[in-house]
Amino acid sequence: MTSNKPIYVTQPYLPPLEEFYPYLEKIWGSKWLTNGGPFHQELEIKLADYLGVDHLALFANGTLALVTALQTLKITGEVITTPFSFVATAHSLLWNGFKPVFVDIHPETFNLDPEKIEAAITPHTTAIMPVHVYGKPCDVEKIQKIADAYGLKVIYDAAHAFAVKYNGESLLKHGDLSTMSFHATKVFNTFEGGAIVCPDAKTKKHIDDLKNFGYHDEVTVVGTGINAKMNELQSAFGLLQLKHIDKAIDRRREIDAQYREQLSSVLGISCPTIHADTTYNYAYFPILIEKEYPLSRDELNDKLRQLGIFPRRYFYPLISEFPMYRGLPSAAQSNLPIAKKTADQVLCLPIYPSLEKEHIIRIASIIADRK
Ligand SMILES: *Cc1c(COP(=O)(O)O)cnc(C)c1O
Repeated sequence: MTSNKPIYVTQPYLPPLEEFYPYLEKIWGSKWLTNGGPFHQELEIKLADYLGVDHLALFANGTLALVTALQTLKITGEVITTPFSFVATAHSLLWNGFKPVFVDIHPETFNLDPEKIEAAITPHTTAIMPVHVYGKPCDVEKIQKIADAYGLKVIYDAAHAFAVKYNGESLLKHGDLSTMSFHATKVFNTFEGGAIVCPDAKTKKHIDDLKNFGYHDEVTVVGTGINAKMNELQSAFGLLQLKHIDKAIDRRREIDAQYREQLSSVLGISCPTIHADTTYNYAYFPILIEKEYPLSRDELNDKLRQLGIFPRRYFYPLISEFPMYRGLPSAAQSNLPIAKKTADQVLCLPIYPSLEKEHIIRIASIIADRK
């Protein structure tokens, strides 16, 4: 008998509570609550090791990581980015006083289409900020080629790309910097949290200064930094979460496979493509509702909601449709036809480690029912 509890698009992975008590006792014992405490230091080392990256600076959340990454590279003027993302991507540009320039996405990867980037470059462009949407890698080689040709920085919003590998290496090593989010809804969470991945110790020190008001040492302030420090409770939870992350991702892989098995033969529903060169984290399960399907995306969404299942229309509306962006020339619908079409067709189905097989079968059979 399936329970009638609502099924949301995601549920945070919570390890057994008693496993957290020893961490709390240590924090209470040391009385070190924030400002680069022992758990913070340990999590930075263990995460960099787990992810296979050189350096990583923890943040209070992913948005502050984005805002600070832009400050680190001394960006100015215009930044090319995608409208098909969570709003924080473009907000981080406005917070810094930069102008977002939206470029359309590729219909298969849902990521910034490298073929369309060059036409958007002007003398004011200083950076490209792509997003690895749903953890699918951007075309990192082509993007880097363009960046090198025009002298642009590349900052990846890798909020969805925890532990994703591309050609056997961490996807997070591409670009000048990559930022992550450890929000409760993400694959790996610290309640709220984030990080910047960077290539060298000097850059990490500068990022560490910027996340602590710009303090370089007790008496020197080197920039208009912000307070973006991850605290010891968050860091401790991250260390505990890290012990369970492999089995959490394994479970996501099984769910992804079950959905594919159940949905692949449903006419008008297309499942995300998979490529052999990528190790995925199965953060999301986006389906596209095509014209061969008898219901529209919104009708299917409503039907599932009435039955207590709450998928999400990530990313609808497009960022370019929000009031602070829609006046930009690059926000015009005619500039972003693929993003617009995708935003109208996509539905992210529930996926999280504790989702049960009977739930997956039920969700898939409602979709397969075609009524
Ligand atoms: C979640 C998310 C963010 C913001 O991260 P927070 O930790 O919630 O601040 C930024 N970009 C993308 C693509 C996201 O999904």
